[in-house]
Amino acid sequence: MIGGRRRARLRALLAATDVPAIAGPEAFALLTGALMAAGGIISLAALAFPQAPEVHVGALRAMAVAVIVLGVANATVLPRRAGWVHHAIGLGATAYITAAVLLAGGGVASVAYASLFGFIAVDVFLIFAWRAAAAHLAVVLLACVCAFAVLPGASVAQAIVLDGMFLAVSVMTACLSRAAAGAGVDSLTGLLNRRGFDRRLAAAMADAERSSAPLTLALLDLDRFKSVNDTDGHASGDRLLRVTAQAWRERLRPGQVLARFGGDEFAVLLPGCPPEGAEALVAGLRAALPAGRTCSAGLAEWEPGDSASMLVNRADVALYAAKRAGRNRAHRHAGEDGRGRELLRAMAAGEIVVHYQPLIDLQRALHLGLRSAPLAGSVVDPGTVTGAEALVRWQHPTRGLVPPLHFIPYAEERSLITDLGLHVLHSACVAAAGWAPGPDGPRPVAVNVSARELADPGYADRVAQVLGETGLPASSLVVEVTESSTESDDPQLTRSLHALRELGARVAIDDFGTGYSSLSRLSRLPVDVLKVDRSFVRALGTGDRSETIVSAITGLGRALGLLVVAEGIETAEQAEALGRLGCERAQGFLWSRPLPPDEFAGRLGGAAPVSRAAPVGGMASIAG
Ligand code: C2E
Ligand code: CA
Ligand code: CA
Repeated sequence: MIGGRRRARLRALLAATDVPAIAGPEAFALLTGALMAAGGIISLAALAFPQAPEVHVGALRAMAVAVIVLGVANATVLPRRAGWVHHAIGLGATAYITAAVLLAGGGVASVAYASLFGFIAVDVFLIFAWRAAAAHLAVVLLACVCAFAVLPGASVAQAIVLDGMFLAVSVMTACLSRAAAGAGVDSLTGLLNRRGFDRRLAAAMADAERSSAPLTLALLDLDRFKSVNDTDGHASGDRLLRVTAQAWRERLRPGQVLARFGGDEFAVLLPGCPPEGAEALVAGLRAALPAGRTCSAGLAEWEPGDSASMLVNRADVALYAAKRAGRNRAHRHAGEDGRGRELLRAMAAGEIVVHYQPLIDLQRALHLGLRSAPLAGSVVDPGTVTGAEALVRWQHPTRGLVPPLHFIPYAEERSLITDLGLHVLHSACVAAAGWAPGPDGPRPVAVNVSARELADPGYADRVAQVLGETGLPASSLVVEVTESSTESDDPQLTRSLHALRELGARVAIDDFGTGYSSLSRLSRLPVDVLKVDRSFVRALGTGDRSETIVSAITGLGRALGLLVVAEGIETAEQAEALGRLGCERAQGFLWSRPLPPDEFAGRLGGAAPVSRAAPVGGMASIAG
């Protein structure tokens, strides 16, 4: 049992990292060069002392000087060499030490020289993948045995003792270095993984801050990689990733960092490289792909004050633009302009506020006698409020309350939507956690999320973190995503929605009926709520077919077990028509405009959470 577990752990260790890659090629070149030079210096030092008559002192001295020179050269020029050169150096070093063992004449001096094989045994397991390193070690062990076999006065027994030691040292080196590197390394390609990359990015940003040297990040995504996996199998997909990683690795210079972010997405960090140079380099990487393959790329330059996530987001926005423009191209992010910086400042200054529009239990509201309620100044019966939708506003110091459509689309084009969306989510969760429960239990909050946020693989994790921080149960959160944004073929969007569902949150399809309303997509997406678009509500009673369409949507919702919400209800007639058509929930100016957080909470009769900014009078009135 214990043995089995140990074997499993060993297997995992062997599989975890093929190439240890704790350091880059430049560090390996330095290490190999240093070991060569050290061997030469040790040899020269030993030869300064009296030697046995059979030792060829002159030849050994010449070899020692040569190997020191070669070692220094190796450390300075090797990083830019192809992979086979590294193997040639390994084999050359084995031949060199074998020659030294023979020239030492077979006595104690030969045993001393043979101990230098230990350098090779350690070096190859730090640099090469398991199989290649094992092949080099086998050559070393064999060379040692053969040299001792042919030397007069030496015995194979001495070689066996030495070989045993080399074997033990190399296996320990291999395991320790792979275990140390494993956490930050992608096991398939041997490149850094996201975690390893993030560490290097943080260090590079700190350097850029200090030196004000440029720093460019490029994200590269293989085009139509999914079809390789689907049609040729995952083994072909893996092979393509490995070949790509190898081809790109060889084109990078010391200090440039290549990582695999996951899936078919790679990242290249280019310290000291201005965007123009980075564009040329990325063009080279795209050209180095295997025949018939293409990739899309997004580039962004680090700007002072940027966080790592802002830089990655900007490169991601550019990558997204490249893909939308038809793939097989590179886009460069233009950087934050004055408007972007103004929005960032507003977020930091607490000017981005969230208002809440009540979600009404339509049947209950109708039952309570909707028609008799005076429209202007009507008061929402707290018993009919089943929750609220969070709607963001910019409380601008000079422009007043700016509606979301004036800045959300802009934020979505840039990377700003990530931070903005997170701010709204956090505010909404804090607010909802303080709301008094309704007759049906806790009142959930619905938050609008843009497709760009869901395209981020880390989105669901961030939501989980915010829920944890604010104490709001996941069941009290509804994520609203517009129907049109679910039409992109991005599989990550679907994955994010599933992940949110697994957390316990619900998913609403917003503006339903304005997109393609594909039934196959509805069956594929994890959906709990359909929000009938305002345009159908507005058209009710005008004689067109909106009534038929709304009744079809409520029928669809019932059949699929989904909650149907109608939005934009302004008149009692609309409310009654929707009630007749089977709508369960409703939202609209008939009941209330979106309200500042404390005002909304006050209407529920619960303790009002403290809002981040003072409410604005104009928006706060009921049914203006
Ligand atoms: P939406 O999700 O369809 O939100 C409903 C919009 O309809 C809101 O506009 C709301 O104020 C308005 N509305 C509600 N009842 C009525 C009514 O009876 N009559 C009329 N004429 N309008 C009504 P708002 O707040 O201007 O938001 C516009 C859009 O901006 C939202 O449409 C949503 O797509 C987006 N948005 C708002 N907040 C956020 C956010 O935090 N994140 C993201 N990504 N988008 C947001
Ligand atoms: Ca919405
Ligand atoms: Ca809507």
